[in-house]
Amino acid sequence: MNETQPAVTSHEATPRKRLHVITWGCQMNVYDSGRMSDVLAPLGYTAADTPEGADMVILNTCHIRDKAAEKVFSELGRLRRLKEATGGHMILAVAGCVAQAEGREILARAPYVDIVLGPQTYHRLPEMVARASRAGGAVIETDFPAEDKFDHLPEQATPQGVTAFLTVQEGCDKFCSFCVVPYTRGAEQSRPAAAILAEAQRLIARGSREITLLGQNVNAWHGAAPDGGTWGLGTLLRAMASLPGLLRLRYATSHPRDMDVALIEAHRDLPGLMPFLHLPVQSGSDRILTAMNRKHTADDYLRLVDRLRSARPDLALSSDFIVGHPGETDADFAATLALVRSVGFAQAYSFKYSPRPGTPAAGAPGQVPEVEKSRRLQALQGLLRGQQDRFNAACNGTVMDVLFTGRGRHPGQIVGRSQYLQPIHITESASLIGEERAVRIRDVHPNSLSGTLVQERLSA
Ligand code: SF4
Repeated sequence: MNETQPAVTSHEATPRKRLHVITWGCQMNVYDSGRMSDVLAPLGYTAADTPEGADMVILNTCHIRDKAAEKVFSELGRLRRLKEATGGHMILAVAGCVAQAEGREILARAPYVDIVLGPQTYHRLPEMVARASRAGGAVIETDFPAEDKFDHLPEQATPQGVTAFLTVQEGCDKFCSFCVVPYTRGAEQSRPAAAILAEAQRLIARGSREITLLGQNVNAWHGAAPDGGTWGLGTLLRAMASLPGLLRLRYATSHPRDMDVALIEAHRDLPGLMPFLHLPVQSGSDRILTAMNRKHTADDYLRLVDRLRSARPDLALSSDFIVGHPGETDADFAATLALVRSVGFAQAYSFKYSPRPGTPAAGAPGQVPEVEKSRRLQALQGLLRGQQDRFNAACNGTVMDVLFTGRGRHPGQIVGRSQYLQPIHITESASLIGEERAVRIRDVHPNSLSGTLVQERLSA
């Protein structure tokens, strides 16, 4: 069937339309893109692989990285030509954090955009599409509505595969000096435990074996419990771990201040909670951590790492770093390098500080020259890369549990993830996809490992 022609779904006389979603940024944006597709499915929208000929294109944007808005405008320029080719019928929507932060600017600079919506209003998308189609003018929804969007979103319909994401928390109350999230995603909100467990069961029924709980500040989650009380993330993870069919659990992204005793004990007690934790520290200098409003010191972080490693000795850590925050001196940067050497990270993300309009650090004195930021970033990344290479090299010859997620690039190859999220390739039957098996690592490549199957399960 020609997909551009109206078709009729089996249950309703709804014309089929093609929806293409372009997603930038974090896992939460990937999850949100799926939920926007779910909410538009009853209107007849089905996924299109390319924007060419689509009836609707959504740009789900991220404001974290440098020049985020410029990237959006450049993509919009390309889409404008595609829209014109459809006689203007294509609905163009900009969602996500850039939409939240720069909604009016988007409509001023790109008046051919039909819908601008912030992350808290996805559940209103069908109504916005109807309004945009009817009125022919732009619709902007960047409020933080009183109702909870999760109460108004349909059940997740888009299958996610062997590994799945599940948003449990949104927003942030921390107000780090450099970060737009509290302004674009609003205050911390936690979904109720029952809704999360029900969504997890649906994911498992559709074949997911690993679930990553997502939140901008996920370990601040404190949701309504099924018994009427309130749970923290540690208790939620215990309830999740008891769901039949679920092999692995992860959560991201955490703030060191919200790692409480119950969560550390969950790492000690739950074998299915993967021993790989992304725990951003940003800097190793107390002076800069204060300027960043991180509300913890370098020593707090180091002591927390010790407690986590005591609870789960095979725990490996990943982190985020910003170099060149306003006021950062050579001595501050040296403290960051010292913290990295002291912890030893399996993986990390590091960036040069770049000002985000409206955040306190953007106008702060002591902006670090670009050339100096580059020099520091190179030094930090060299150190972190060395740690990551050593971590991977130490896996060679060992036996690791691998959850197979799909086919590899080469014929006969399948790929999976270790407990530490390393991609691992083996040559085996695709019937293993969805299973967790023991693999002896035989080779270490720059960004992946390869090995052979061990007959008995590692954890058996
Ligand atoms: S805790 Fe994370 S999301 Fe919240 S303000 Fe800080 S960096 Fe942004």
